[in-house]
Amino acid sequence: MTREGQNEGVRETFAWRAKRFRHRGVTWGTVVCAEWNGVPGAGTGVLGCGGPLGSLRVVPVVADSSVRARSGGHAPKRCGACAKWRTMRVSGGLPCSPVHGAAVRWEAGIVLALSMGSERSRHGAARTGCGGAAREDGTMTTTPDFSPELIRRYDRRLPRYTSYPTAPHFSMDVDEERLAALVGDRGAADRPLSLYVHVPFCRSLCWYCGCATVISKSEEQRRSYMRLLRREIEHKAGLVDTEREVIQVHFGGGTPSDLPPDVLREIGEVLHSTFRVAPHAEEAIEIDPRDLTREHVRAMREAGFRRASIGVQDTQPRVQAAINRVQPFALVEQAFRWLREEGFESVNVDLIYGLPAQTEASIRETIQEVLTLSPSRLAVYGYAHVPGMRPAQRLLERYGIPGSEERLAMLGVIVGTLTDAGYEHIGMDHYARPDDELSVALREGTLQRNFQGYSTRGGADILGFGMSAISSIGRAYVAAPRTLDDWAQAVERDAFPAERWMVLSEDDLMRRRIIESIMCVGRPALDEVSEEFGVDPFETFARELEGLGDLEEDGLIERTPGGFRVTPRGRFLVRHVAARFDAWLEDDGRRYSAAI
Ligand code: SF4
Repeated sequence: MTREGQNEGVRETFAWRAKRFRHRGVTWGTVVCAEWNGVPGAGTGVLGCGGPLGSLRVVPVVADSSVRARSGGHAPKRCGACAKWRTMRVSGGLPCSPVHGAAVRWEAGIVLALSMGSERSRHGAARTGCGGAAREDGTMTTTPDFSPELIRRYDRRLPRYTSYPTAPHFSMDVDEERLAALVGDRGAADRPLSLYVHVPFCRSLCWYCGCATVISKSEEQRRSYMRLLRREIEHKAGLVDTEREVIQVHFGGGTPSDLPPDVLREIGEVLHSTFRVAPHAEEAIEIDPRDLTREHVRAMREAGFRRASIGVQDTQPRVQAAINRVQPFALVEQAFRWLREEGFESVNVDLIYGLPAQTEASIRETIQEVLTLSPSRLAVYGYAHVPGMRPAQRLLERYGIPGSEERLAMLGVIVGTLTDAGYEHIGMDHYARPDDELSVALREGTLQRNFQGYSTRGGADILGFGMSAISSIGRAYVAAPRTLDDWAQAVERDAFPAERWMVLSEDDLMRRRIIESIMCVGRPALDEVSEEFGVDPFETFARELEGLGDLEEDGLIERTPGGFRVTPRGRFLVRHVAARFDAWLEDDGRRYSAAI
């Protein structure tokens, strides 16, 4: 993009922000130049404000007449003392005094505009005192004012904790006899089941992809996969008590929506005739809009699916070209229309931030475009750059991968834009409309976390089918082979496809309970650990609890009689809080994604 094009972009951004913040009682800001983090042309800003302090946001704005016109006619001025500072009146009226400092940057020749939220936004945001705005229920509405030094300290790769212990710690040493005993445990009759089916096929590789995929356009390969899936389902159904109620069915991939329509119907029929799927079960499928037809959507509905997640990732053509996933927005709109017309109750969107060529402005545009479709939920994942494990990701490096500060700024845009639009921030990466069952579960403290992310269906054993699918049965995790051939061979000899596994110790189970609770409701659930495991958790985890001092000092947690709670500010770094209870954590950055 040319400099002129960039300038136009920031002008638009500023105009939008100024308009948006004016109704919140925006006052004015002063930026004072100084060396900042050794970056030439950068400075430290001090915000003066006469109104109650809310969130601080900073955007670069070109100082030309069109900006002055849109910002109320106040021209930026150069400081007579140091010749390095700029003042811009965004809107005025209140007496001001400097009450808060914030780190900001600008490029030579570009003036910073400061915009501030008021104490309480129209959605009920209240002042936190940490530079971020929090709702009464503790969810964040904007980015907190993390200093560059704090960002550097927390710039670490950590697990996403969709399981504990995490998959890299599973062992290759599978004990088939013990596994058969665990799967066939008749004492588990009162535990419901959750079924996960992995369909690995995709027509082309998105370069950011971290999933277990097989790149193929072959319909025959998909049909023979279906034949093996049917055999695996029948075999596993012979091992478990099929009278157990199934409360969740999830198809992931890969691209499950790209199975031939008759195959989709068939697999739905096999699952429903083999297991006792509850009428209220959550039946969800992941969708790629690029090869979707109306016939596929009808077949999915007939197979029992009522919830769909559409992989959008980013709507901006420049980003789509960089990640090798060109997907015009019209295809997404068409998929939404078909899914709703065919009776899907909930249509969700998956996005990714931290991708090459993304900026705060482009992320905002993506979200605003997606919001025109009113999805029930959004999952906005941070891009996990692990080229040591996913060599194709190296192709993205020529575009530049956003660093932690940029990622945090993008996250602030995401949280701010979505919460302003009325969505609840459910947890690390999920957002839902207030009437969605995830939001209700968050308010009622019943939110769960499993391999699919946040969920309302907890306490179930997960039975996985297909290449690389992970099952969670009682106290064991079992991962199927990660190659098609190895998985197919296991299915053909009627074995439980198991390449890696782990049987959790009592200590693992307690820590799993604590970590899941931190990730879901921001508390360690020590009372429940005490009740369930008959230990004094304050004694058992004394070392971990004592070691949280730095998190407390940084405002990420607050001590409570029940141990602690994660603050609204801490929700941005909740993986760091959970990781303090992870006894398996190795400092192996290649395996995990950046925690910011
Ligand atoms: S469609 Fe999804 S699973 Fe397939 S390559 Fe792209 S990101 Fe990976």
